[in-house]
Amino acid sequence: MPAVNNVLVVGAGLAGTATAIGLAAAGIAVDLTEVKPEVGTAGSGITMQGNGLRELRRLGVWNEVQAAGYAFNSVGLRAPDPAGTLLAEIPDARTGGPDLPATVGLPRAALARILTDRAEAEGAKLRLGTSVRSLEASEHAVDVVFSNGSAGRYDLVVGADGIRSATRRMIGITDEPRPAGMGAFRAFGPRPASVTRTDLIYGGPSYIAGYCPTSEDTLYAYIVEDARDRSGLSPAQLLAAMRELALAYHGPWDEIRPTLTDPDAVSYTKFEALVVPAPWNRGRVVLIGDAAHACPPTIAQGGAQALEDAAVLTELLLDRPAVDDALWAAFTARRFDRAKTVVEASCQLGQWQLDHQQGDVPGLLATITALVSQPA
Ligand SMILES: Cc1cc2nc3c(=O)[nH]c(=O)nc-3n(C[C@H](O)[C@H](O)[C@H](O)COP(=O)(O)OP(=O)(O)OC[C@H]3O[C@@H](n4cnc5c(N)ncnc54)[C@H](O)[C@@H]3O)c2cc1C
Repeated sequence: MPAVNNVLVVGAGLAGTATAIGLAAAGIAVDLTEVKPEVGTAGSGITMQGNGLRELRRLGVWNEVQAAGYAFNSVGLRAPDPAGTLLAEIPDARTGGPDLPATVGLPRAALARILTDRAEAEGAKLRLGTSVRSLEASEHAVDVVFSNGSAGRYDLVVGADGIRSATRRMIGITDEPRPAGMGAFRAFGPRPASVTRTDLIYGGPSYIAGYCPTSEDTLYAYIVEDARDRSGLSPAQLLAAMRELALAYHGPWDEIRPTLTDPDAVSYTKFEALVVPAPWNRGRVVLIGDAAHACPPTIAQGGAQALEDAAVLTELLLDRPAVDDALWAAFTARRFDRAKTVVEASCQLGQWQLDHQQGDVPGLLATITALVSQPA
């Protein structure tokens, strides 16, 4: 017998949909609530590394992911010079195993659709435009009242509601994300033929200018700078600011820049970091994904770590007879140090740049590669 019969998952992001798929596929009744009125309609791109792909394959969506995305196995380093000189092309580690690519770039909207479709196909009940108004946990169940006034009783509530998790606050955890010092413009647009992998340009007027192919037709491009308050800018002004910074970058950037014309396809995000101290549960309510740990995207591991949380939690809930201290101790043992190490390394990489300090980047990346190459 699994440890649970019915589960509420709050948040239909990567962590939430992955948990819903895994539990529903095993016959557990799953309600999946998402505050947004729709999923799979907006967003930029995401770089999913091998260890994240391993989890997506385990969820049974690898064929869809492969068809929707763009796979590649190396990263390029270019100079911030007038030719965009290619300094090196470095093979990327296949952290999901030799039979998966090192990386797949995907439109976030496509990945969201793939995962929510699969969750529903496995039997999870998706409730859009719904959040949790209150939670009351007892030893044996959690009573939930939803924003639409309906109510439910669950064996377990999974708070997968992202970096600003309301679930986190509802269970009395006061940890909040802290600024990591950087901010990034991100734009989603057409892929020129010259963009076949991620290239990074360090230096120039920003810290990093990069791009990632996300399908045959699309890419996302980003420019990372000191965090600034750009909240007063209109979409058109944001686009203009990104285009101006992009003037300093060449090579494929000369083809990307003219395509940056849609103000609605540009966003600006300040980087943040969070590690909620273990344990991530309070009784029968547990936090996973960005709700529990979030990293600046300097290593592009946040999504993969969210998927790993979901995989480990699902495995324990299906393998163990009860939601008890032993289950939570096992969850902490498998997830806490690993996620914390990734957050700390992501912050360190950013901090070296902020401090204009030459840290041991290859050494740090090798450590993370070795860690995430191990199954979660
Ligand atoms: C600029 C930037 C770039 C990044 N790039 C990458 C990358 O390339 N690769 C990578 O692996 N990671 C990347 N990340 C990190 C990655 O996006 C996150 O780690 C990942 O999305 C976390 O998944 P999650 O499911 O925990 O949270 P989320 O993806 O944030 O999903 C949470 C879901 O919960 C919903 N929600 C919120 N509140 C409520 C509520 N009260 N009730 C119901 N639903 C709610 C939200 O609408 C959302 O759908 C990046 C992050 C940033 C900021």
